[in-house]
Amino acid sequence: MPLRDKPIRQQLMSILLLTSGVVLVLTCAAFLAYEFLTFRQTTLKNLSTLGRVLAANSTASLAFQNEGDAREILSALRAEPHIVAAGLYGKDGKLFARYPADSPVATFPAAPDRDGYRFEHSHLVGFAPVAQASNARLGTLYLQSDLTAVYGTLRLAGALAALLMGVSLLVAYLLSATLQGTISRPILALAQTAKVVSDRHDYSVRAPKLGADELGLLTDAFNQMLSRIEDQDRARQKLITDLERSNKELEQFAYVASHDLQEPLRMVSSYTELLGRRYSDKIDDKGRTFINFAVDGAVRMQRLINDLLEFSRVSTRGKPMQPVDVNRVLGAVRANLTVAIKEASALVTNDEMPTVVADETQLIQLLQNLIGNAIKFRAGERPLVHVSARSGAAEWVFAVRDNGIGIAPVYFERIFVIFQRLHARGEYPGTGIGLAVCRRIVERHGGRIWVESAPGQGSTFYFALPTGNGGQVS
Ligand code: ADP
Repeated sequence: MPLRDKPIRQQLMSILLLTSGVVLVLTCAAFLAYEFLTFRQTTLKNLSTLGRVLAANSTASLAFQNEGDAREILSALRAEPHIVAAGLYGKDGKLFARYPADSPVATFPAAPDRDGYRFEHSHLVGFAPVAQASNARLGTLYLQSDLTAVYGTLRLAGALAALLMGVSLLVAYLLSATLQGTISRPILALAQTAKVVSDRHDYSVRAPKLGADELGLLTDAFNQMLSRIEDQDRARQKLITDLERSNKELEQFAYVASHDLQEPLRMVSSYTELLGRRYSDKIDDKGRTFINFAVDGAVRMQRLINDLLEFSRVSTRGKPMQPVDVNRVLGAVRANLTVAIKEASALVTNDEMPTVVADETQLIQLLQNLIGNAIKFRAGERPLVHVSARSGAAEWVFAVRDNGIGIAPVYFERIFVIFQRLHARGEYPGTGIGLAVCRRIVERHGGRIWVESAPGQGSTFYFALPTGNGGQVS
């Protein structure tokens, strides 16, 4: 998992430990390099001092060509375990005496090299002149030392550095585990608060402020934002409650008004008809025309009241949602529209329909209004109406297509508003409530309704039902 995706605590710990680790490694490397170089220099200095002392002591043995003396002097090197070989070369450049005495001559340089000390392979070797203060050079001293002391010191320093690093990293771990909290705690508190808000939709919680730094400012800003959202949420809730109440009151009013209007209206129409029948011999043609107007008005008012009642009942008298076979729904719609279909010689066809979860009565009403309109708003030719369905993303989309008069795009929204009609009563009968009822039904099912059309090109009304409560079963 990349560092980015790890919890903030782990990220901070990793960063702190990585930083201290890198600093420690660099410091230890510098320390080891310094130790190594210093010790090499010291070893070189010690060997050259030893060489000078030995050379000074060997002058007599070389001057008098006393090999026994020379070997004796060299054997003193036993006290220096790092000296692995030593040799005295005479003036002629030949090996005169060697240490250890039994070491083969071949392991010594054939002739002395230039004076001075240098590191060669894994040894420190050197040649020092043997000379009396006043006299010329008598010979050369050869010394060879191993570097185990240097490596031993380096090993020790390395072990010390490793121990130091281990202890320092442990201390760094303990310190960062404690100190990272100063940064991670406020961030974690913020994240925790944000989670509570999004899980419970509770905007009353606040993130605790743990300091006055930038994280403290962030916490303040976050809490202020929550306060504002809480205020807005409260206002929104109040608005929704008010709207719901006024909606209910309006529905109730529409229901009561239309219901209570029916009774006096029935009286008006039946008494007017009675008047016309009973006194037909006493009323002249003009009177009869007036009575017909009155009856016609009453009939229209009756239709308006019925439609209004239907509209108000969509949400108040809705039935529970259950699986409904839309093929069966279309059968019922056809039966209800038999007269209209016959009168207009309409041809109503449909594809195979799915089963959806819906209020069956309202689905009948919805399709009946759409198919009824498709027949009513016909152009000159025979009305052809086709109903189809296709499954979309988490919804079923139904379409009712006709070859009628069509609708101009500017009216696409308006026609779904109650009482909005595009034609005079004389052209096409109606109350302007049908599509408003359709929209309410679809919305009650959690869906949407829209139209695609062009004047003279026919119309297609679509409605989508989600495959949830008002949705698909198969
Ligand atoms: P009504 O049918 O009572 O007039 P609606 O609410 O059903 O009321 O329709 C509103 C208006 O939308 C109608 O007056 C008509 O102008 C237009 N309309 C509805 N359906 C169609 C259709 N299939 N073809 C053309 N116009 C339509």
